[in-house]
Amino acid sequence: MEHQRSRDLYDRALSVMPGGVNSSVRATMPHPFFVERGDGGHVIDADGNRYVDWVMGYGPLLYGHDLPEPVSAAVQSHAAAGPMYGAPTEIEVEHAEFVARHVPSVESIRFVNSGTEATVSAVRLARGHTGRDKIVVMQGGYHGAQESTLVEGGPENPHPSTAGIPKSFAEHTLPIPFNDPDAATEVFAEHGDDIAAVLVEPILANMGIVMPVDGYHETLRDLCTDHGALLIFDEVITGFRVGGLGCAQSRFGVTPDLTTFGKIIGGGFPVGAIGGRADVIEGFTPAGDVFQSGTFSGHPVTMAAGKASLEYAAEHDVYDHVNRLGRRLREGITEICRERAPEYTVVGTDSMFKTVFTREAPADVDACCAGGCRQDATCARYDHCPKTGADVADAATDRWERVFWQRMVDEGVFLTANQYECQFASYAHTDEDVDRTLEAYRAAL
Ligand SMILES: *Cc1c(COP(=O)(O)O)cnc(C)c1O
Repeated sequence: MEHQRSRDLYDRALSVMPGGVNSSVRATMPHPFFVERGDGGHVIDADGNRYVDWVMGYGPLLYGHDLPEPVSAAVQSHAAAGPMYGAPTEIEVEHAEFVARHVPSVESIRFVNSGTEATVSAVRLARGHTGRDKIVVMQGGYHGAQESTLVEGGPENPHPSTAGIPKSFAEHTLPIPFNDPDAATEVFAEHGDDIAAVLVEPILANMGIVMPVDGYHETLRDLCTDHGALLIFDEVITGFRVGGLGCAQSRFGVTPDLTTFGKIIGGGFPVGAIGGRADVIEGFTPAGDVFQSGTFSGHPVTMAAGKASLEYAAEHDVYDHVNRLGRRLREGITEICRERAPEYTVVGTDSMFKTVFTREAPADVDACCAGGCRQDATCARYDHCPKTGADVADAATDRWERVFWQRMVDEGVFLTANQYECQFASYAHTDEDVDRTLEAYRAAL
């Protein structure tokens, strides 16, 4: 496979951009391939190589690289009308109405420009609403590049996970292990009166894919209600991906006070949103006293793309298709692992999939969940499948990054380069793409 043009582009990029990229995960070793264009479920790189693309922009692309005709038409017409105004437009109202109609917890919503901006604003809103400073987050959870959540350690010793964040910021964040109801109960026993919110991805989706154990979200819901804290679901990745148009909260039957969105809700354009109980959301200025503003917020082209995408999904077999392919991939990879690497854990749900290179497994691998780990307490592997971010970090992450990922690229399959981020099926992917991908897994595992 020829990569000369990508190598040359990376050489130029390194002279004018830090690490040669605009988002750190894109700097794959030894150099990234530069994408020339997309085609359905594929991307073609600068040297003309074609890959089956399961990265899907890290989540936003429900339709792959070919927008359905009505989505494309909506984008073109709003772009042609003039890109944006600094005054409200009808399309923002329509998109807000659509989301409020379909997502159980959403009565009112504010659109912003990224998932990061959504979680920053949600945390500020929760603090303003409760008059409290502390937030509880999950170790291994991801909420974008924001000061309050780039924090590691435990509730007694939180510290910034990156340079550039004052230690004193991290003091207001209480990281606990996911799926551990006792740790959650304890943190509320200790700090209950100071906790503004629990911020949690309904599924840890940026650290492998870790499903919640039975009853976990109910415990968080009860603790928040009992202590006057808000429950915030970060559905930036699971929103309109897991549980269809009702999002993961409809799947789990737990209603958060606030939900953050991003990715799919903008149809492939930059977006974020904070939705939830009207009495809480109305804390945002100008209705309330928690400052929130943005030049590009509710951008008409983004709103048109997002709304047309979700409407198209409401009227077509989009979720049936992507979820069926997701299941075929998870079942197929499980079969291949059974022969090649019985210690590995296949994870995922709906159209999301990943193989975590776990190091141990019981002798009876036949008993595991074929469609991806569901945290089934009766499964023979229950004690071995990842339940927390730390469990995922203990896997053979180097093998994924240094050997497996590169081999898959050579086989013409594009996966996320690190062990932590997951893969997505889109409406543009075909059964043939799945077959080719499974052949590549068979060769590379
Ligand atoms: C991607 C993601 C974010 C950050 O969104 P950006 O648009 O990259 O800022 C936040 N939370 C979760 C759960 C995400 O997956």
